[in-house]
Amino acid sequence: MQTMKPHVTLLASPGMGHLIPVLELGKRLVSDHGFIATIFVVTTNTSLSQSQLLKSPIPQLLEIVLLPPVDISALINPSTGILTQLAIMMRQALPSLRQAISAMRFRPTALIVDLFGTEAFAIAEELNMLKYVFITSTAWFLALTIHLPALDAKVVEEEHVKNHEPLLIPGCSSLRFDDTFEPVLDRNNQMYVEYIRMGIEMPTADGILVNTWQDLEPKTLGALGDNMKLGWVTQAPVYPIGPLIRPAEPGLSSEVLAWLDMQPQQSVVYVSFGSGGTLSAKQTTELAWGLELSEQRFIWVVRPPVEDDAAAAVFKTGKRSDDTPDFLPDCFLTRTQKTGLVILKWAPQAEILSHPSVGGFLSHCGWNSTLESIANGVPMIAWPLYAEQRMNAAMLTEDIGVAVRSTANPSEVVGREEIESMIREIMEKKGNARRARAEALKLSGENALRKGASSYNSLSHVANDCVMSLK
Ligand code: UDP
Repeated sequence: MQTMKPHVTLLASPGMGHLIPVLELGKRLVSDHGFIATIFVVTTNTSLSQSQLLKSPIPQLLEIVLLPPVDISALINPSTGILTQLAIMMRQALPSLRQAISAMRFRPTALIVDLFGTEAFAIAEELNMLKYVFITSTAWFLALTIHLPALDAKVVEEEHVKNHEPLLIPGCSSLRFDDTFEPVLDRNNQMYVEYIRMGIEMPTADGILVNTWQDLEPKTLGALGDNMKLGWVTQAPVYPIGPLIRPAEPGLSSEVLAWLDMQPQQSVVYVSFGSGGTLSAKQTTELAWGLELSEQRFIWVVRPPVEDDAAAAVFKTGKRSDDTPDFLPDCFLTRTQKTGLVILKWAPQAEILSHPSVGGFLSHCGWNSTLESIANGVPMIAWPLYAEQRMNAAMLTEDIGVAVRSTANPSEVVGREEIESMIREIMEKKGNARRARAEALKLSGENALRKGASSYNSLSHVANDCVMSLK
């Protein structure tokens, strides 16, 4: 007699940084642990890159269901930050999620939500399913989030914010004032309130999955495992299951990859700020000059700058001498045509980073980009922009030693000479120690995912609990 496979549902928020690892988790549950999986994706009408990703091949027993687009225009104002928008979108999608799961012929055994989706735990409880949250970032970020409600307002407001003292997270590295992300610095920010809520909801899960691995964050994972001792609200077990990254598509043909084929080994620095990161006009100009001054080959994924200062207009010269976009220095494309490639649209990042010609990555330190860099043994220049990226940058530079970062204050423009020097630091001989460290972490990440190793076993544990809950 054939036994029925257990069915698990996953919920992904619209950002690519969440959708990509949730998709990889779904694939693993199907291919390694014998599940049928359905991923519900919260969509907006403008999810262009989503549709590109969802065209990629998936296993037969994995289904992707796009929930009806949510319209939050009436609930936000022009200054509402992107993270708050994501949290609101997830909330608005709950009725369609509930309806979709209720309509399934066989009740799934579990619901795994990404970090913005913990309000869906109520649906899992109502429908008698196990509930998990998948942190698509670091264990350090998780530790901060679940500890945030316990941090006295006085500490956040007076000692941390006013006196710039570090945030102390029990058992973990303390968080320097300059590396704290904005909602934590601003208690009037709506996202701060959302984080506090998430910090209360996460420990009520049947388990917390994290896209990290034991050898990458041993100290923080140890502290999280000791949550009883730390007095955290509940004992939700923490499962490091990473590094889950989107693999490069073999044989993908593209202009960028053809260009990379012609470059010497490890000679190209890849520059990208993720799916939505932008710089000011002034910063974009400095970066362009920094790249030129470094005399290194480069691929730069550029998005038009945000017009955040009146001075921006000065950098727009209008009439150009070649096809260089008006937010780059005049004739930039002509001057760099032999050594550089500027991409104005979505880049095949997984394939670029795994190409042997790439020797360094100037990145905004989104967690997926970070893992993709480490998984290819590529050292980094950390250039964090928002969310928890400054924490990631601190970890990459000071803790695991695979990156350099600017000494400039987060609100300052990083000058061209410093950019030149950081690029040389990574691309020239002196970058060898960081490259060796990235190589070592690449191997340790690969090992963690092997059958019987730490991350594989963590996910097996979750899978077994799901199966047991059916009995
Ligand atoms: N990405 C890509 N092409 C691009 C920009 C981004 O393939 O032009 C992918 C990248 O490989 C990564 C994800 O989008 O997997 C971005 O996630 P990350 O967590 O790094 O940053 P976010 O976009 O969430 O800020």
